[in-house]
Amino acid sequence: MQKILDAILAGELGEVGRLPVPEFYRGVTLHADEAAMFDGLAGPDKDPRRSLHLDEVATPEPAAGEVLVAVMASGINHNTVWSSIFEPLPTFGFLSRYGRTSPQAARHDLPYHVLGSDLAGVVLRCGEGVAAWQPGDEVVAHCLSVELHHPDGHSDTMLDPEQRIWGFETNFGGLAELALVKANQLMPKPGHLTWEEAAASGLVNSTAYRQLVSRNGAGMKQGDIVLIWGASGGLGSYATQLALNGGATPVCVVSSPQKAEVCRRMGAELVIDRVAEGYRFWKDEHAQDPREWKRFGARIRELTGGEDPDIVFEHPGRDTFGASVYVARRGGTIVSCASTSGYQHTFDNRYLWMHLKRIVGTHFANYREAWEANRLIAKGRIHPTLSEVVPLEHTAQAVHDVHHNLHQGKVGVLCLAPAQGLGVTDPELRAKHEQAINRFRTASVASVASVVAAG
Ligand code: NAP
Repeated sequence: MQKILDAILAGELGEVGRLPVPEFYRGVTLHADEAAMFDGLAGPDKDPRRSLHLDEVATPEPAAGEVLVAVMASGINHNTVWSSIFEPLPTFGFLSRYGRTSPQAARHDLPYHVLGSDLAGVVLRCGEGVAAWQPGDEVVAHCLSVELHHPDGHSDTMLDPEQRIWGFETNFGGLAELALVKANQLMPKPGHLTWEEAAASGLVNSTAYRQLVSRNGAGMKQGDIVLIWGASGGLGSYATQLALNGGATPVCVVSSPQKAEVCRRMGAELVIDRVAEGYRFWKDEHAQDPREWKRFGARIRELTGGEDPDIVFEHPGRDTFGASVYVARRGGTIVSCASTSGYQHTFDNRYLWMHLKRIVGTHFANYREAWEANRLIAKGRIHPTLSEVVPLEHTAQAVHDVHHNLHQGKVGVLCLAPAQGLGVTDPELRAKHEQAINRFRTASVASVASVVAAG
């Protein structure tokens, strides 16, 4: 591994394909025989630091259409939180179901699961039939894994019945020194970014792009008012930038003054601190409070000069969904990709049908959408929102902190990269955007680094 790393660090990328691939590598894993370890505990009490391991695992051979990547950096996504607490289901069920589909897929069905759905790194080996990439290419990966044996996925690959999220529903993910991906997951690494910055955007930027911009999602247009929940979080920090970049007006919802400040740093002017303003959309566990929806809607109108949101960018789910349906404008769109606070949503349907609103379900992105989202990063139109970077050894602590909403934007993970700040090949473009790239770095919330330091 060290020889591979030395060649990458020396910029001798042509050498990489000639060096032997190690038989084993280190990766962040879950163990199948521990899948019941949190049974009986409430979600917040399930501690990823108990379930996540850093193990030596066997290197898989790239099969037809697959690529083995030396991972320089990765990032924490919420799907690693879900995997690590075995919610809503242990991921081993996904692996065994995938394993039954073909001999190639059967390699994924193992008693351990290497997690992670983002990477920036260098192609080491290509399987048979890989035409677009070769050893030595500097790449990032998106996390859509498809088979495309059925007609359904051929207009939009997200509709493939065998659609999976790499590193969540498949094995050999990116929180590791090596990763196995399909060749059609790869995209060029933006040259102006470091390894850890480049790794930060793949999952959330692509998801936010489809959810907000694509015709498969809300199809945002210039002038739209976009209500963005969790606007300084993973998805929200990209949705806010995409709204601003596309001529829309984001109304950012966050839960602290520090998070409000980072939204303003991105250029958002309309920000609601949901904690400071004390919204209680649920009176108790069973009943929502429409007066609180109204108070929230009135606050949005106060900020926008009387307008309601054309689009509500939803992902908190149960806690906020009733309010989201209520505050969207007549004919507006509520676009949902998740249910962090619970997936049984209730809302007052009169506000949906009488006011001709639409609820759109969306999930990750197809290759084209991921490519367009990565292109915006490469052109310096959208920037990574990296707030913290931890070494691979501290992944479990970082996942714990994301689980408890202690982070902002994205938390990066150094895999093979020995330090932050490496991998930039276009310093001129970087110089133009340095400040924007670092917007989240100066955030002063309880940081992963300080939590790690505190032990
Ligand atoms: P994140 O970085 O943790 O950010 C989520 C933000 O949502 C938090 O910063 C928080 O912001 C806000 N939030 C959390 N609970 C809330 C609640 N009860 N009420 C209001 N706001 C709340 O996570 P993420 O990466 O943005 O992902 C968000 C969700 O989307 C996760 O469930 C994730 O699994 C899912 N997701 C789905 C896809 C897909 O393809 N379907 C892709 C990516 C992510 P404040 O506390 O500041 O308000």
